[in-house]
Amino acid sequence: MNEPKVLVLGGTAEARDLASSLTEAGVGVLSSLAGRVSRPRLPVGPVRIGGFGGADGLAAYLHDGGFTHLVVATHPFATRMAENAREAAASVAVPVVRLARPGWEGHPDAGTWTWADGYDAARTAAEGLGERPFLTTGRQTLTHFAPWADRDVLVRVVEPLEAPPSRWTVVLDRGPYDVEGERVLMREHGIDVLLTKDSGGRYTEAKLTAARELGVRVVVVRRPASPAGMRELDDAAAVVRWVNDQG
Ligand code: NAP
Repeated sequence: MNEPKVLVLGGTAEARDLASSLTEAGVGVLSSLAGRVSRPRLPVGPVRIGGFGGADGLAAYLHDGGFTHLVVATHPFATRMAENAREAAASVAVPVVRLARPGWEGHPDAGTWTWADGYDAARTAAEGLGERPFLTTGRQTLTHFAPWADRDVLVRVVEPLEAPPSRWTVVLDRGPYDVEGERVLMREHGIDVLLTKDSGGRYTEAKLTAARELGVRVVVVRRPASPAGMRELDDAAAVVRWVNDQG
């Protein structure tokens, strides 16, 4: 077989770690980013930025670029990209895996949180738990919280919002965060309920610890399902082994 050449669909810390691990293992890798943030953190090695134009576009890209492996290392909530990857990989017969960081369902405090199926359900649940929400579910989810335009909401996003409601306080930041910083932020704004999605990982976990310490209630949006039949690996070393075993 040809030398392995791996396309990593990224946009996460795990994808950056994977690009480093593959490079260290001497495996050719190209990382792909969606281009949603203006100054993305970049992985080592070559990077391309922007959509492929759906599953067909990705299939053509894999074929024309001579890629031997595809790794979906996008965020667990980036469902469209994962589904396109499954379809594209099947159509050009390129092996694919998903690098999926474990969720927070095994977190020691998980049983004390309110778990919601979707953002509207999370909003409704939070309304019953507190009056000063801290919204950390991401810019693309904010339309679900439009009914909160008339209340004080602390929102944390990576990129500026175009026209947030006047009563919302918008903090621009991106992880990793630490517990002390999260504690100060929540206390400063009198937060009594935190909304998050089940992103998993350590980068954004500190807010959960700070919430427990401050007695802030937590609402967690459950993860969407992975594409049917796609194999999942949970760390970079396992992906490197998978690439080498397939070679
Ligand atoms: P999505 O809804 O699954 O994907 C929407 C479209 O964006 C895809 O169809 C694809 O366009 C393009 N795209 C997504 N990821 C791409 C990548 N790595 N390389 C090239 N094109 C990509 O994704 P999303 O939720 O908008 O997330 C976009 C990016 O932000 C992802 O890379 C993800 O890892 C990162 N991110 C997402 C979240 C989140 O909560 N969703 C959080 C942190 C980081 P085409 O169809 O044109 O190929």
